[in-house]
Amino acid sequence: MNKKIIFSILHKIGTTKILRTLKSAELTILSLHRISPERDFFFNPITPFHFESLLRYVSKYYCVISFNELDNILQEKKTSKKPLLILSFDDGYYDFIEFALPLLKKYQLPSNHNIVNSCASENKTIWTQRLNHIFNFAKENKIDFEFTFHDKTFALNNFENNWLSFYISTFKKMLELQMDERIFMIKKQEETLNIQAEYRMMNWEEIIECSQNNVEIGCHTFNHDVLSSITNLSILSKEIVDSKIEIEKKIEKKISILALPNGQTNENIERICNKVGIDKILFVDDKLNSIKSMNTNKIKSFHRISMVDESDWEMELRTEMLHSKLRNYVGV
Ligand SMILES: [Zn+2]
Repeated sequence: MNKKIIFSILHKIGTTKILRTLKSAELTILSLHRISPERDFFFNPITPFHFESLLRYVSKYYCVISFNELDNILQEKKTSKKPLLILSFDDGYYDFIEFALPLLKKYQLPSNHNIVNSCASENKTIWTQRLNHIFNFAKENKIDFEFTFHDKTFALNNFENNWLSFYISTFKKMLELQMDERIFMIKKQEETLNIQAEYRMMNWEEIIECSQNNVEIGCHTFNHDVLSSITNLSILSKEIVDSKIEIEKKIEKKISILALPNGQTNENIERICNKVGIDKILFVDDKLNSIKSMNTNKIKSFHRISMVDESDWEMELRTEMLHSKLRNYVGV
């Protein structure tokens, strides 16, 4: 029996509801990126149609809040009849303005969007998207190519001609490199293939528009580097502090959120956050957040559930954590 059929049966017998009712003391945060009808084999955006289904679902069964509202709820020890949920976006793609914001307005829902400064200022393409672009181009045009790292070379035939395994392994290996090495390898590959990734990101004017329309802006670092891989403290400081200061200046509001790009935190990151008044660090690790254990004075780490483009009921089951509950058993 395939995964889709199993999930469809689980949905039909009421698993979504059972899982949801078990969650009242927990905060669910959904991690979202692109909302667009465009297709990308390696990082598919959620279609506006599926996104609207998701909004319909969360607005019916959840109290959708912002991080700022969460602070008030914690301070005033308020309770809510429905479980709490936050819609959290990263990266600042322009399709947010095009497709997500009109739907968020339609359902009157707040959201959080974490911005990369170099994308907003110079429309830079994040390295992960440049890597996707290379893989998409090579796959579509059936081009054999390889990435040579210090200790090994990755090519399609090392992965039994499975493009996704080739991509994921290359991506993970790239996370171990320093930013300049990573960019050097990507640039070299782009030159060899004679391609350049161009994606429209939100500029500052559009980010201000979001900020004035119930979108709580956070920081997603200056250049989308993997913070835990940075050993130089002044570079690390620029990625967090300069990013926060510039965003605050642009939107004329205080920033208290840092979404970590592809990574882990460490003592240095937390020390810098503490110094500059960032008290919320966001991860993508498919877990829920226990409200009872949240301390209002300290830096808080928040878990987020990574959402992908799939049918409405699969998204609902993912929101209710079925996928991560089953992952250990059946490799979903
Ligand atoms: Zn990101």
